[in-house]
Formats: sequence, C-alpha cells, structure tokens
Amino acid sequence: MDYDVAVIGAGAAGIAAARKLAAAGRSVVILEASDRVGGRAWTIELSGMPLDMGCGWLHSAERNPLVALGRDTGFTIESGPTAWQSQWRDLGFAPQQQAAAAAAWMALEARLRANPPQSDRASDALEPGGEWNAYCQSLSGYLNGAPLERLSVADFLAYDSAATDSNWRVHEGYGSLIGAAVPDVALRLSTPVRRVALTGKGVRLSTDRGAVTAGAAIVTVSTAVLAGGKIAFDADVDDHLHAAGQLPLGLADKLFMELAGNHGLERETHLLGDPRSDETGSYYIRPLGRPVVEGFFGGKGAVVLESKGLLEAFAFALDQLSSLLGNDIRRHLRPLAASSWCRTDWVGGSYSHALPGHAGARATLARPVGERLFFAGEATHQSDFSTAHGAWESGLRAAGQAIQSAA
Ligand SMILES: Cc1cc2nc3c(=O)[nH]c(=O)nc-3n(C[C@H](O)[C@H](O)[C@H](O)COP(=O)(O)OP(=O)(O)OC[C@H]3O[C@@H](n4cnc5c(N)ncnc54)[C@H](O)[C@@H]3O)c2cc1C
Repeated sequence: MDYDVAVIGAGAAGIAAARKLAAAGRSVVILEASDRVGGRAWTIELSGMPLDMGCGWLHSAERNPLVALGRDTGFTIESGPTAWQSQWRDLGFAPQQQAAAAAAWMALEARLRANPPQSDRASDALEPGGEWNAYCQSLSGYLNGAPLERLSVADFLAYDSAATDSNWRVHEGYGSLIGAAVPDVALRLSTPVRRVALTGKGVRLSTDRGAVTAGAAIVTVSTAVLAGGKIAFDADVDDHLHAAGQLPLGLADKLFMELAGNHGLERETHLLGDPRSDETGSYYIRPLGRPVVEGFFGGKGAVVLESKGLLEAFAFALDQLSSLLGNDIRRHLRPLAASSWCRTDWVGGSYSHALPGHAGARATLARPVGERLFFAGEATHQSDFSTAHGAWESGLRAAGQAIQSAA
C-alpha cells in the first residue's frame, strides 16, 4: 500500500482533510487534476492586487474556522461591514425603491419559511406579477448561482437558517489563505484520477501518471465532475452519482476592472447595475480601498456573461456602469480579469444548490461507501454548502470518518 489515505482534489475540502489526516499521523497523498492547489479558492495577482476569482468572503465569520487559521498563519483579516446592501448615491435606485425591493425579498423568505410550496420549488412562492420578482431572481443568482425555479426551498432554508450576517475578508486573498494551508504531505499536481477501484484491502486509483494504492480514499471533486462521469468507480456509488446530479453547480462569475485617474468613486461602495433585471451585475467599488471595481454576476446573469465571451461581458459591465455614472467613467475603467467557472476544467461551475425535492441528496452524497471510500466537498455539507468553510468542514468530517474506520 503506497499511502494510508489518498485525497482526490486539492480544494478547500481536500486540503482540510489532508491536514487532519497528517496531524493524526497518517501517510497521505493529494492527487490534483489541475496544475495548482485551491480549486474554487483561487487568488491571482494583477497590477499588484490580489484578486479572488472564486471565494472572497469569509461567510458566517464568527464561526468560520478559516478566520482563526488565517490569523494564526499571518493573514490579515478585515472584519468590517460589506457595502452590498447600499446603492452609492442612490444612483438608478431611489431610496423608496430600495426599501420596496428589500421588503419583497424579505416577504419571499417569510413565505418560504411560513408557507413553503408543496412543490419545494422556490419560484412557486413568488408573488404573481410581483414588481420586484426580477430583483429577487438576481439575488437568488448571487446566493445560489441559480434562478428560483431550480431551487429547493428546504435546501435554501437549511443554509439561510444556519448562516450569520458576518462576512469578512482577507487582504491577501481567500484563495491565498487556503492554498497556504496545504500540509507537508505528498502532493501530485496535474494528476487527474480517472478510476477508483476497491481492492481487497483498500483502494486503487488510476491516474494519468500511473496507479496509486491506499488504505482509503476521500473524494472531494465537485458535483459537476462526479455527475459528468469524469471518474469511473468500480464500487457501488450509483446513489452518490445520482445525488450529485440532484445537486448541480449553479453559476457565479467575477469580472474585475481597474480604475485609473480622477474618477471620483468612493472606497467600499456598491452599485447594482439594474435593480429591475434578473441578469444584472453587482459592482463592488474599490474593495479594501483598491483601484478596482469587482463585478459579480450570478445565475442567469452569469450564464449570459459566459455565453457572450469576455469582450462582450466587459462591454456589458461598462454599459451598466456608464448608465449610472455617466459616459466619462469609461475613460477610467479598463478590463483586468474575469472568471469563467463553467468552462474551468475539473470544476465545471460555481457552487451547488439542490433541485426542488432533493434537499436530501446532500446526506446521500456524504455517506461513506464501506470503510474505504469517503466523500467530501462543499456539496456534502448539510447547511454550509456553497462555501469555502463548508467545504473545509466537510474535509475534516471525512478525514475523521477515515481515521475512525481504520482504527
Ligand atoms: C465566483 C465564486 C465566488 C464564490 N464566493 C464565495 C465566497 O465569497 N465565500 C465562500 O465561502 N465561498 C464562495 N464560493 C464557493 C467556494 O469557492 C467553494 O464552495 C469551495 O471553494 C469549494 O471547495 P471544494 O474543495 O468543495 O471543491 P473545489 O474547490 O472544486 O476542489 C476540488 C478539486 O478537485 C480537483 N479535481 C476535480 N476532478 C479531479 C480528478 N478527477 N482528479 C484529481 N483532482 C480532481 C479540482 O481541480 C479541484 O481543485 C465561491 C465560488 C465561486 C466560483
């Protein structure tokens, strides 16, 4: 046997699992398909700025284990409030409209809680013809990466009930924090696992660079990778693969623009491009005081963006911003970078949501197979799915199961 445990995937879940296993004295190998660690936690550096292409916010910060890890390892955690809910100078979104839109979202949430539709389909709780339905859809896009038609009410409420309102940031980038947490174990990059087989005593993993044997394996790949059949299993994992299909990855994408010259924009402010469109971008202006605008697109907006391609996506964002700020803003903005998570190999989307009627799929996906095959990853968390800390906690859970099984 080459190792006690093989971890498939070096995202937040895989890194957390490997840390716990190594701390318990197990020999570990991490097999990662891409040429970097972090997965959907990915900080790039451009113009001297760390930019998070994936996760950026330490959600539920008071109980988020990555806050303490970041502090302990020398990262700078910013605990200030977010500008999301504000509209700079009320541009294109009068205060009464902002109040009415927020009230519509709160009323929708209240209906989901008090009187959930039989269908478990969140869109069935929308007010027919409601003035702010498109606004609610855009929020669902940011939160879930998917429109309300595709969203299980029970699943959404499991997240919403557990989450707190504290959303913090890390100056050096969330991806940098998670990437720096890789423990001192064997790490093989550019090594996609193609087949997982149970053997008499453990598991045998076929990769593009030969076979690896281990006592157990922890699978942390995204539901898109699992449901897409990218890994063949010689084990009874039909229920898991079926569950992965019921927990598809929604889509959210970021688009960064650099600010130059005398633009007059204030730090830590925000603009929603068009509060009446379900495809609108949400623009965070000068986050942490940096000369950048961070555009965020979710659900339908992100799908449209990825289908348009980068040039048109930037043009769309510029049109939205100049309609609020005036044409002069175009002189001060230039494209920096954009994500394209649907097209990112070995990930295939942004974060998971349960389809209506399928909130239970998370528990199915998290179930061990025998005493040798364990599943982790954000989609397996019962309440903090779709987040980096949820992925992290799922990795710790799976590592604990592997340690116990081998005891
Ligand atoms: C645009 C965007 C914004 C987000 N914002 C936030 C946020 O603000 N806060 C937050 O908490 N979360 C956020 N998230 C979600 C968060 O990034 C993810 O939930 C989390 O990083 C997922 O971690 P994971 O380990 O489950 O999966 P991944 O990060 O997908 O890790 C799985 C790894 O497995 C590898 N892999 C796949 N197939 C194979 C194979 N066959 N063999 C070997 N390796 C393989 C992949 O390359 C990948 O590295 C955001 C995500 C996106 C895309």
